[in-house]
Amino acid sequence: MNGQSAAGGEAPPPERSALPTDEWVESVRLGLLRWFRDNARELPWRRTRDPYRVLVSEVMLQQTQVDRVIPYYEAFLDRFPTVESLAAGPTSDVIRLWAGLGYNRRAVNLQRTAQAVIERGGWPSDPDGLRNLPGIGPYTAGAVACFAFEQDVAFVDTNMRRVVHRLWFGPDLPEPIASERSVLDLAGRLVPPGNGWQWNQALIEFGALHCTARKPACVVCPLQRSCRAFPTIQAIVASLPRGVRKKNEGAFQGSNRYYRGQVLKALRSVPSQEGSGIELRRLGPQVREGFSDADVPWLKSVVDGLARDGLALVAEEPASYDAGDAGTARVSLPD
Ligand code: SF4
Repeated sequence: MNGQSAAGGEAPPPERSALPTDEWVESVRLGLLRWFRDNARELPWRRTRDPYRVLVSEVMLQQTQVDRVIPYYEAFLDRFPTVESLAAGPTSDVIRLWAGLGYNRRAVNLQRTAQAVIERGGWPSDPDGLRNLPGIGPYTAGAVACFAFEQDVAFVDTNMRRVVHRLWFGPDLPEPIASERSVLDLAGRLVPPGNGWQWNQALIEFGALHCTARKPACVVCPLQRSCRAFPTIQAIVASLPRGVRKKNEGAFQGSNRYYRGQVLKALRSVPSQEGSGIELRRLGPQVREGFSDADVPWLKSVVDGLARDGLALVAEEPASYDAGDAGTARVSLPD
């Protein structure tokens, strides 16, 4: 942080009912871009305009912190350096490389996106074209259009939304008061023509490092005078109950997502030469303590869900006159 206080010439926000003035927009742009120049981290995906590398970083950064992503990003690109290599690679390798990042469906979707790019003969460069690729939502489409193709487009993730909301609409806690549409419209107004790459990187960085959810550094914020949330946000944050995070973590243990992760962890440890995978009855004790035959239908429903999402293959025993035994079904990572 640069420790500076409000810069001279900053424009306070106009009345709430008014539209943002050019003067306000310009002062926010200047303050934020200056802050970014002094505080930007050196991140590997900021050194490239390759849409494939940008996409890999954006997908990994969804739900995962920057520091954790960096080694995964580098290992992934060592193994799959181009969109062609990912499109043609074994899905089981993609899922193995994702181990520890969580939200494994992202890995399979990333490969589907790569395959679609190859099928159509190249990358679309605008957000609408990118959104037609499988697995790409509005945020990722905007991010790739901006960070790979340097288009001046607006898109908002949690961090960006928070900053834009606080600056113009005021405190976002305990609940945001502005709609997603209003925040996105304002984000679009703020993008400086010809400088969208810097601007959106700056907004992401500012939300991640400075105007954070629970500890906004308002006292040393260069945007103080332009920010409608400034007078009250810190008192609001301080008044919120603590411990919400711990409660959620407790709820995660034992959730469907938790057990899906446990199944994938066990499947990743099955050597790839054991192509036919592992029987449900052998898999169960690795997934849940005290697993018994009565739990086989439950485990089958978990692996069926993974199979529907392209994260696992389930091979059933051929049907016979006897009642089928789901416990002998074999599960593996996809080829
Ligand atoms: S003054 Fe506080 S709330 Fe406003 S932009 Fe700066 S850090 Fe965020």
